[in-house]
Amino acid sequence: MQIVDSIPALREARAALTGKVGVVPTMGALHAGHLSLVEMARADCDHVLVTIFINPTQFGPDEDLDAYPRDLDGDLAKLEQYGVDLVFTPTPAMMYPDGYRTYVEVEEITAYFEGTHRPEHFRGVTTVVTKLFNLTLPDLAYFGQKDAQQVAVLRRLVRDLNFPLEIVVGATMREDDGLALSSRNAYLNDEEREAALVLSRGLRAAAHAYENGERDPETLRLIALDVLNNEELTRTDYVGVVDARTFAKVEDATDAPLLMVVAAKVGKPRLLDNMLLPPHLNDRDGLTATLGVG
Ligand code: AMP
Repeated sequence: MQIVDSIPALREARAALTGKVGVVPTMGALHAGHLSLVEMARADCDHVLVTIFINPTQFGPDEDLDAYPRDLDGDLAKLEQYGVDLVFTPTPAMMYPDGYRTYVEVEEITAYFEGTHRPEHFRGVTTVVTKLFNLTLPDLAYFGQKDAQQVAVLRRLVRDLNFPLEIVVGATMREDDGLALSSRNAYLNDEEREAALVLSRGLRAAAHAYENGERDPETLRLIALDVLNNEELTRTDYVGVVDARTFAKVEDATDAPLLMVVAAKVGKPRLLDNMLLPPHLNDRDGLTATLGVG
């Protein structure tokens, strides 16, 4: 496994890779969710490239940039085990040198849900992902369902700017009790971790109703909201039932796929979770067909 920490070294190493290249962009502190994406890339591609970069432009001024978990040695040991070919670990000064003035913005979809709560966030994500795509030239890029709105925004970016690549979407990896794996779970104490289960429990309650024939988006939304609001330690930010590609709210009962998204503050961190309805769509194929891009 080759590790490169400069842009010229990355360009040289990338140029030496032939065949299909899969890229998995991450912010490090790797867990089984990240590694499931690496595993998919390993199975699909001739070469796997992982980027580790805590991107400052996607954090708001009051967010956890400085405290964000970092474990480069642990990350590299894991990636080595997973047969990764190349790891790119740039510094903020390399990605945003003095005089940096160019940002990439996707309109509309970035204005809802996470965009309302984190106004600068998606502009940072689309900017860094554009840079990482230009640097790593992937044939396939792997992203997690866990950040479903991010995937929908990146799908728009890839289509609108004609990036010659496919986005593959991996299902959310969870703890046995349902908690979606997230680097930010490290901030939870025992009591908060227990409380955080209401996110997945709310989604499951709505999925259960869906499987019993409920199709009214507002009824499904209220079923999940009720579960979230029953937990004193969590403060619900939103529960939404949306079109998976546009993130527009769905008002009328429909058999078309729906995405249910939830966000809540549990202690310090804000946690996210989501589920496609019907529930059988929550695997790589269903997710990639619904949220990804070919
Ligand atoms: P991050 O390091 O948080 O930027 O995440 C890097 C990638 O891993 C993103 O595409 C995330 O959506 C994905 N990811 C994060 N958590 C999970 C999870 N629990 N299951 C699957 N993918 C995940």
